[in-house]
Amino acid sequence: MQVERRRVTLGSELVQELRRALDVVEEQRHRAGRLLCRRSRDRATNAPGKAAYPEVMKVVLPDGNELDLPDGATGLEAARAIGPKLAEQAVLVRSNGHVRDLRLPLTDGEPIQILTTRDRDDPDALAVLRHSSAHLLAEAVRRLYPGVKIAIGPPIENGFYYDFDFPEPIHEHDLERIEAEVKRELAEGREWTRDEIAAEDARVRFEGGDEPYKVELVDTAEGPISLYTQGDFTDLCRGPHLLNSKPIKAFKLTGLAGAYWRGDEHNKQLTRIYGTAFFTQDDLDAHLERLEEARKRDHRRLGVQLDLFHLDDISPGSPFWHPKGMVIWNTLEDVRRRENARRGYVEVRTPLIYDRLLWEKSGHWEKFREHMFLIPEGDRTYSIKPMNCPGHMWLFASTLRSYRELPLRYAEAAPLHRNELAGALHGLTRVRIVTQDDAHIFCTREQIEDEIFGCLDYAKYLYDLFELQARFELSTRPDNKLGTDEEWDFTEAALQAALERRALQYQLNPGDGAFYGPKIDLHMTDSLGRSWQMGTIQLDSQQPARIGCRFMGADNEEHTPYVIHRALFGSLERFIGILTEHYGGAFPFWIAPVQVRIVPVGESHREAAYDLAARLAPHRVEVDDSDETVGKRIRNAEVEKIPFTVVYGDAESDESLAIRERGGAQSSKSLVEFRGQLATLSPWQVGAEPSLTP
Ligand SMILES: [Zn+2]
Ligand SMILES: [Zn+2]
Repeated sequence: MQVERRRVTLGSELVQELRRALDVVEEQRHRAGRLLCRRSRDRATNAPGKAAYPEVMKVVLPDGNELDLPDGATGLEAARAIGPKLAEQAVLVRSNGHVRDLRLPLTDGEPIQILTTRDRDDPDALAVLRHSSAHLLAEAVRRLYPGVKIAIGPPIENGFYYDFDFPEPIHEHDLERIEAEVKRELAEGREWTRDEIAAEDARVRFEGGDEPYKVELVDTAEGPISLYTQGDFTDLCRGPHLLNSKPIKAFKLTGLAGAYWRGDEHNKQLTRIYGTAFFTQDDLDAHLERLEEARKRDHRRLGVQLDLFHLDDISPGSPFWHPKGMVIWNTLEDVRRRENARRGYVEVRTPLIYDRLLWEKSGHWEKFREHMFLIPEGDRTYSIKPMNCPGHMWLFASTLRSYRELPLRYAEAAPLHRNELAGALHGLTRVRIVTQDDAHIFCTREQIEDEIFGCLDYAKYLYDLFELQARFELSTRPDNKLGTDEEWDFTEAALQAALERRALQYQLNPGDGAFYGPKIDLHMTDSLGRSWQMGTIQLDSQQPARIGCRFMGADNEEHTPYVIHRALFGSLERFIGILTEHYGGAFPFWIAPVQVRIVPVGESHREAAYDLAARLAPHRVEVDDSDETVGKRIRNAEVEKIPFTVVYGDAESDESLAIRERGGAQSSKSLVEFRGQLATLSPWQVGAEPSLTP
């Protein structure tokens, strides 16, 4: 499952596709090797003078028991050997984290897990179900739209898609007809068969069928090619697939979009049809309910409803923050400043615009220039900074430091600009202006573990504060790493030790580190169960050397410090977008832009209402003395998700206030009691500081 998760967190579907393509190559190479080994063994067995007898092999089941099977037995045969019921319900074999088609041979000694229709929440089981559903979709579309060309149809998080090149454009309302055709296929029932053929034969076959996209895929594939056929439809595919369509108990098409062939805007734009499928109708219903809830919580919608921010094409991907949005922003800034101070960070402020010389030295000019906004001036070229690191390192390098100054923790939340493609922009979660809660920690080799520990502790503190479930992933040396293996052994061990010392569960992503050092990515799961990649903690031994950061060690020699890049919220823009959806706009009291609204019943109560507001300071209190009815004003406060509404009329006084909590609970409290209650609702007050984990 590690592999699947990692795909999802990488976010873009294009990256997922690339990873899948790599997996195909990987699997084919693996299988080619295995087949070769079996063949040479067969030859040995059949060698003259040797008795020919059927060989047996073993596989290890999840309970630790071994299962004897004839050599070369498939996953399906293993399932049959365990029991006919299991064989009927089987959908997939999983071994060492990799998934495999039931029709493929198992390897002697390998641990296997057979997934069945009862594994209805397992992402791998769902992926094979959904990918098989994508093939049914392609079959239906080809029948309904003669002349259509088919491209690719992978499973994705929560569903699948298939890309088509339609002779005439289709529209949302056409989906109904296509969905009905797939349901007809399901009622009829489909069986999948799998064949392996030579690339040449596959090419001839798809050329004959006038499927240019498939021909291109054949030409760029490596190793043997496999085909899956159901009904009269054959697709080029590495699998795995279901044996038949019986497990697909719920199918729905969910949308239509444009998508460039192979994700490249220079290629033709195809039509992408999205859908989803489940093992039960109940699961589909629950999924649709979650989607509806997510739609209601969409931060772009709530941003307007709650008057937090808006976006305008006058500056694409750059939000205009309204006063209420700025209250949330500044609350997060307060948390950042306060925690930074408590944890030994120092605030710095570095320029926004730099000569290209800096970017050449840092390596960004070569690797990141297309995402940078450039400003030519005379014979110089400047760039608005897309990240803080080079500036912080330039500042560090402005003088020769002493080891006594280390660790030196520079913090800065400067606005960064990245030239994201206009088409990729999305609300607050994909923007061109990025304000990170950024810091760079300059430290010695010996200090790495403690500093990483400190970052992890800080991250855990923040995620707990916002009631988000944190998940940590450690990524280790990639193929294109810089530095020696000994160096990587040391740095990876330091990160691992810090994770273990802070008692954090983490997932290992071998080979996924940056070329300059290992990293820990921080993910959060929100109240709807969705996972978001947030901050990152990265160790870097390369950039400080490129920019010339030096310190004088205790040994009287000059050394290059290590730098830990870390952002824990990630970007404030994105974090506020995610928080808005996480809370559904009902921000906790301490973040809520308006904490208390007072509704004076009549004209004669206005003065008392304003007087009460003043006495509730420093809380954020508003008086709604508009001409609306009391009922309407109370409803407005509900719609704006304000934590407390106080209705003030003839019966009210300091001794007795009529208080309505968000959600409807009502009570009567004295002013003193109410103030006492509000005081407990901020996560920190004087004297209630959370303690730092030692
Ligand atoms: Zn397929
Ligand atoms: Zn950095």
